[in-house]
Amino acid sequence: MEVDIRSQTREELLSQLALWGQPAYRAGQVLEWLYDRCAAAWDEMTNLPKVLREQLRQTYALGALELVRRQGASDTTRKFLWRLTDGALVESVLVPASPSLYGEPSDRHTLCVSTQVGCAYGCKFCASGLDGWKRNLRAEEIVNQTLAVERAEGGKEGARIVNNLVIMGMGEPLANYDNLLKALRILNAPWGGKVGARKITISTSGLVPQIRRLADEAPQFRLAISLHGATDRTRSKIMPINKKYPLRELTAACEYYQEKKGRMITLEYILIAGVNDGLDETAPLAKLAHRLGAKVNLIPYNKVEGLPWARPDEAAQRAFLAALVRHGVSATLRREKGDEIDAACGQLRLKTEREMAAASAAGCSSIGP
Ligand code: SAH
Ligand code: SF4
Repeated sequence: MEVDIRSQTREELLSQLALWGQPAYRAGQVLEWLYDRCAAAWDEMTNLPKVLREQLRQTYALGALELVRRQGASDTTRKFLWRLTDGALVESVLVPASPSLYGEPSDRHTLCVSTQVGCAYGCKFCASGLDGWKRNLRAEEIVNQTLAVERAEGGKEGARIVNNLVIMGMGEPLANYDNLLKALRILNAPWGGKVGARKITISTSGLVPQIRRLADEAPQFRLAISLHGATDRTRSKIMPINKKYPLRELTAACEYYQEKKGRMITLEYILIAGVNDGLDETAPLAKLAHRLGAKVNLIPYNKVEGLPWARPDEAAQRAFLAALVRHGVSATLRREKGDEIDAACGQLRLKTEREMAAASAAGCSSIGP
């Protein structure tokens, strides 16, 4: 398969241009088209000589994501469903920052990005793993989610709207380690996406060897651990990965990450009624948070069609938060902004695939946005 130009670093592009006898400043021009102007076609790159455009066209793919569905209004969470070249579907979610104190609409946004088609880890509560794992996303497919959103949202030249990335969409990012790291280096680079490393958070269900490997890498990415249980008993009930890497090993890997990177870890804890929301869970959770010097992010569970789990009522959510705070933990309770548009991981894809299956059974062939 042809190499996609958005999987290439500046150095790789420079050496190709040198082979063609092109001056180095051409690399800057190409990169500006790719990452500042989010170009979708070679012919848009009007300041490049025709010959060079032709060489680029023949050497590299310039893939784009096809928008299948977009949900949400301009001032709320927006959800994008993309079709990849092999027909697979993945999603990205754009969450605007809260309006500022003065009520001005904010132009700061966080984009939640997917890294795999499906997921192999089968957490019991999650829509992404329901149909198993299909494949890893390639580096350019991860990079292109950000650029396609910039394009779809009409971000003005130079004025990017995505300034925070959370790698919390479909898939387990650290199971697609090499492609993820390549994509994040491109999105982080001053010649690429220009998103600061501290504004990029990788969420993992707890792949211990990869957490250690990431600790040894150069960029200072933030890490979010999907904990969801602070004892092996509770965690193993809902997250099969806990049997492979139990809390003792996960905690040690997190300590190693903190040692290497400073305080960069958040613990994510979904509240699921009757499963992990008992107040007796707060003491072990607090102990772990203190040991890691980590903040705890409580997230009320988002109902997934076909799964039996539910979120606790608001009083129970607040009681859990209050108990953690009494233990001296820095914790927040997130209002799930994307709730009403199926924002939790994997849900829009699942719904669309089910609707497509139903539509094709009924003799129709496509689903509109
Ligand atoms: N695989 C990685 C990243 C993707 S999941 C991980 O597990 O961390 C991103 C986050 O969404 C995880 O914390 C996951 O546990 C959470 N999540 C999954 N399904 C959810 C649901 N139905 N409601 C709320 N959060 C959910
Ligand atoms: Fe996979 Fe994360 Fe969902 Fe678990 S929570 S199944 S690791 S995407």
